[in-house]
Amino acid sequence: MIQHWPAKRRVTAVGAAWNLLLGIGKVIAGILGQSQALVVDGVHSFSDLVSDAVVLAAARWGSLEADHNHQYGHARIETMASALVGFLLLGVAAGFLIDAVGRLLEPERLQQPGTLALAAALASVVIKEVLFHYTRRVARSTDSRLIEANAWHHRSDAFSSIVVIFGVAGVMAGVAWLDSAAAIVVAAMVGWMGWQFVASAVVELVDTAIPERERRELERIIMAVDGVRDFRNLRTRRMGGGVVMDVTVLLDPELPLVKADTIAARVRRGLLDQSTAVTDVVVGIAVNTRVEREA
Ligand SMILES: [Zn+2]
Repeated sequence: MIQHWPAKRRVTAVGAAWNLLLGIGKVIAGILGQSQALVVDGVHSFSDLVSDAVVLAAARWGSLEADHNHQYGHARIETMASALVGFLLLGVAAGFLIDAVGRLLEPERLQQPGTLALAAALASVVIKEVLFHYTRRVARSTDSRLIEANAWHHRSDAFSSIVVIFGVAGVMAGVAWLDSAAAIVVAAMVGWMGWQFVASAVVELVDTAIPERERRELERIIMAVDGVRDFRNLRTRRMGGGVVMDVTVLLDPELPLVKADTIAARVRRGLLDQSTAVTDVVVGIAVNTRVEREA
């Protein structure tokens, strides 16, 4: 069960509601106010809304208990959703890039944004900066890295709207191509976000092991359990936001089976309780080093 979940859900829902309002506001203001960059920034807010929805849905459905036909749980629903969202964002970013480059190559298609677009972008910066401070405060009180990441995402969104301000103000000052150039920068930010979604999903789906530093932490927890002489065949992979693993611990051959069973249970408990990442562990026991060594 996720700790402080009500507070985290509230801050995520508040962020999502503002992303919805900002998305609608910026797309409308961008179309009426003739700023391509602002439209792209508005679509970025919609994509943020989708990613908030993935976080909320993953917390709700991804943490469902295993059932008869999903016996390892439902965590990869989140992974699949992230991959789909990522591909969608890459497509959207590519579409806007092509459009903006097209306008730059045909200057008669360049638009003339004015004060409406400028005001909308300014409002977006202010709202996102407020959301950054509010979200970071919740992140600190709940000690959550996920919420902390969301807070910094709000600040990077503010930066994206600042790029729009530069573009619009530039056109108003007579540099006709600046809005489309800003649209390219903002579209690149959308594409980068999409790429990160896709990449992290792929890393997980091909069963990539966790980094060496995190692995050493797990090794330390295993070896700290009384009665464990050594271990073999430690394997890890990611599932949803967590890590699933299996390991064989080496025990004294003279131990009664019931003691060995207790030690294995302690190793499992220790990994689940002391590591914030591990969500599932299978512990095997062996009594001699003839157990196959890992490659
Ligand atoms: Zn964003």
